[in-house]
Amino acid sequence: MFCGARTRTGGRCQRYPLAGKRRCLLHGGKSTGPRTVEGLSRTLSALWWGRKRYVEQRHSMGLPAAGGRPASIRSGEGGVDMVGRAMAAIDRELETLPTAEWPVGELTPAELLRET
Ligand SMILES: [Zn+2]
Repeated sequence: MFCGARTRTGGRCQRYPLAGKRRCLLHGGKSTGPRTVEGLSRTLSALWWGRKRYVEQRHSMGLPAAGGRPASIRSGEGGVDMVGRAMAAIDRELETLPTAEWPVGELTPAELLRET
């Protein structure tokens, strides 16, 4: 099995990965990844902002941005309301359970889960 990282010439890296790793030492095999909460936070922030820049750039050119969840499962924006579906499913499940006193106001159990 090879490292397989994409190379500048368009091929795949033919070196062997480091032991226990998936990449060779030239392609991140020595990386430990983020080791602190701050490091992970920086990494995720860079991912988020980089994606945002990419999407804005594509949209400014009038092009779609690849990736993201398909509209069919996105909640809001005309897609299927997954939260509403989940709440309805929870309500249905609760109907099948033995009844207990429900002292908390007018909200259904599913609504309470959503609020807290
Ligand atoms: Zn490599």
